[in-house]
Amino acid sequence: MGNAEEQLVEKAVSNTTGKPDWLRVKAPMGDQVSQTSSIVKKYGLSTVCEEAACPNIGECWKQKHATFMILGSVCTRACAFCNVKTGRPDQVDPHEPEKVAQAVRELGLEHIVITSVDRDDMDDGGAAHFAFCIEAIRKASPSVTIEVLTPDFLRKDGAVEKVVAARPDVYNHNIETVPSLYRSIRPGARYFHSLNLLYRVKELNSTMLGSGAMLNGKIFTKSGIMVGLGESEEEIIQVMDDLRAAKVDFMTIGQYLQPTPKHATLVRYVTPAEFDYYDQVARNKGFSMVSSSPLTRSSYHAGSDFKKLREADALLTSS
Ligand code: SF4
Repeated sequence: MGNAEEQLVEKAVSNTTGKPDWLRVKAPMGDQVSQTSSIVKKYGLSTVCEEAACPNIGECWKQKHATFMILGSVCTRACAFCNVKTGRPDQVDPHEPEKVAQAVRELGLEHIVITSVDRDDMDDGGAAHFAFCIEAIRKASPSVTIEVLTPDFLRKDGAVEKVVAARPDVYNHNIETVPSLYRSIRPGARYFHSLNLLYRVKELNSTMLGSGAMLNGKIFTKSGIMVGLGESEEEIIQVMDDLRAAKVDFMTIGQYLQPTPKHATLVRYVTPAEFDYYDQVARNKGFSMVSSSPLTRSSYHAGSDFKKLREADALLTSS
């Protein structure tokens, strides 16, 4: 095992050490994991899998499912839950869209998730760069479905519009937590702005559909929260209602894991039975797709869940 792989093992396993059984994961090892790692390195790309010390990296990278983090590896915000480095951001690599597109092709993926750090320093928050990445992937791999997980772009005019115009298949923007915890957990963001962003994606999409400008129609929206930060059941259910009011199609709910002692304190582990309960409540609220489990992350099983989402949507529209 090389140094890079050793670090992967260390990060993924330490993130679940001392946790309940249901959060224990296998160490990220094996040929497929090494191949994924070498493709990521070959193109000099960042992944949220590594930067966020995601516990699912062993499972995902074994299937070559990596989630690319564009616009550098340093974030301009410092959310209390997030392990990504914060500080002076990197120069944007203008060749990153092509590099991402080549890496996607080499990984042989059918569905890719692209996310980014927050770039509050940029005029459009990095929205155009997202669009360039979508366009480059489409050009290199026309059949690949594309999911973007964007920041809130600091409410910059025209940012969401740029991303939507590039026609991702899924537009994900995480609401992250309940409104009462925003000040301590997500201090640079506003709950209602995030809801508005999600609603705006749907508005823009229906205008485009109406004008017949889109060949492949619908953009699905997706959003998620972490639990275990001290939120109440009522607050979680209120978030579900708010997301449905914003016409969100797909909700994710996963356990917060405290990356380091300096990050927001973990209040409790939510049990698998509670996750099942939230899954059922969310489905009853009308989401076409829900992923609620201790290890759920925005991009966990994103490809297979996207297929299920499309099937559920097709059933709904035909009934
Ligand atoms: S769940 Fe997402 S971030 Fe975590 S390893 Fe899988 S693809 Fe990467």
